[in-house]
Amino acid sequence: MINVEEIYKLMDQDPSKEDKALIKKAYDFAEKAHEGQKRASGDPYFVHVFETAKNLARFGMDATTISAGLLHDTIEDTGTSPETIEKEFGKMILCIVNGVTKLGKLKYQGHERHAESLRKFFLAVADDYRVLIVKLADRLHNLQTLKYIRPEKQKRIALESLEIYAPLANRLGIGKLKGELEDAAFPYVFPKEHEMVKKMLEEKTVTAIAELKNIEADLTKELHKQKITIIRVSYRIKHLYSLWKKLQQYKMDIEKIYDIMALRVIVPTVEDCYRVLGIIHSIWNPLPNRIKDYIALPKLNGYQSIHTTIFTGSGSIAEIQIRTPEMHGRAEYGVASHFAYKESNEKLKKNIHPGSHRKFQWIDEFKELGKNTEKPDNFLETVKKDFFTDRIFVFTPKGDVIDLPEDSSPIDFAYAIHSEVGEKTAGAKINGKMAPLAAKLKNGDIVEITTNKNAHPASKWLDYVKTNLARKHIKQYVDNNSLINKYILKRFK
Ligand code: MN
Repeated sequence: MINVEEIYKLMDQDPSKEDKALIKKAYDFAEKAHEGQKRASGDPYFVHVFETAKNLARFGMDATTISAGLLHDTIEDTGTSPETIEKEFGKMILCIVNGVTKLGKLKYQGHERHAESLRKFFLAVADDYRVLIVKLADRLHNLQTLKYIRPEKQKRIALESLEIYAPLANRLGIGKLKGELEDAAFPYVFPKEHEMVKKMLEEKTVTAIAELKNIEADLTKELHKQKITIIRVSYRIKHLYSLWKKLQQYKMDIEKIYDIMALRVIVPTVEDCYRVLGIIHSIWNPLPNRIKDYIALPKLNGYQSIHTTIFTGSGSIAEIQIRTPEMHGRAEYGVASHFAYKESNEKLKKNIHPGSHRKFQWIDEFKELGKNTEKPDNFLETVKKDFFTDRIFVFTPKGDVIDLPEDSSPIDFAYAIHSEVGEKTAGAKINGKMAPLAAKLKNGDIVEITTNKNAHPASKWLDYVKTNLARKHIKQYVDNNSLINKYILKRFK
């Protein structure tokens, strides 16, 4: 039997009386609206919106978004009028439901249409990131019930999830959702590969867990001795699809992949993280070149953690990840994590390594806004603008999405595709028309780069590139060249 209590239980913080009242109202409304409708599985349709809402609760979303999740198919599938939703639940929830309905009309239909669909998709999304999160939660449940759908449709939906939805979840920093979407889609797109990777992983898991348990025991003993508070130690098993992608880089040799299983250590502060790293290296030998400090140098989507890989002493190798609870929240929930971790701005600043502060400006700004705004709805309005306005999404002629800072030029785009493309850029077409290399790209542009083997970077390019990647390559080329020129001038004067 399904019950609204299941949603409350999955929420990260105990919902208030008002939150519960709102969710219950949406729950009852949706149940009634979908009455008599069935899914392809034979289940009542309401099960689908209920599961979508549960996904949203699991990913740390608030009562407004969860309610919108319950209502997300009412306008499209039950003939409920937008006016009714607005009257009963307010403008905010109507906006989210409308956004999700709009996205539902987009279909992935091969390359030509693909770019166009994606473009509309993004433009709709840029309106409010919660629309996207509801859509992702909806898609996750559709993938989980894909076996009831006819095969051609299965493959289209699964492929679209791998190529569009999962990368978006990643862009929003919701690692957990990205992993679940990919793993649900994987068997439908690459059935043989999925079987193979699953078997490989199963064989590894038993011994790896035993190994990690030993490491955990030794490590916790030492941390207690050193008086470091441990908030949590857990394991994470690599998601199947990401394991498969990695296997391809290593000629399918699973022995070369060291992070299949990782021990995850959560400690209170950044200082503790570095102390734990020191303690780990004093017990076990680290593998050279495998120590990654994503605390000082976060990944682009905001991911922070320290990773190290050690020789366990019994012939095998293991990865250990060290992070604070806040970093953990962001890694799992991404843009949604401010619902899960409502600590004060001050505490956040203290916990972030000084060098990383700038990269996390947007998160700090979220917190600041949250403090100064009475109504959470206004807070979200502002958040979504900040999150999307500094980035643009442009497309290759094949429909691949490239995400760049605002005001980027075709040169930035070329280097983002590949450094060799950047190096040999001779011209650019934007939306099918010739354009100067200094042009400023706009959200949704389709960009085509013409290359020429005799072309090379010019120092004036530095005036209009916005990405560090392009700047670095151009500077390198220009500097090398001026050295060669000086040398030639000197020799042949
Ligand atoms: Mn749906």
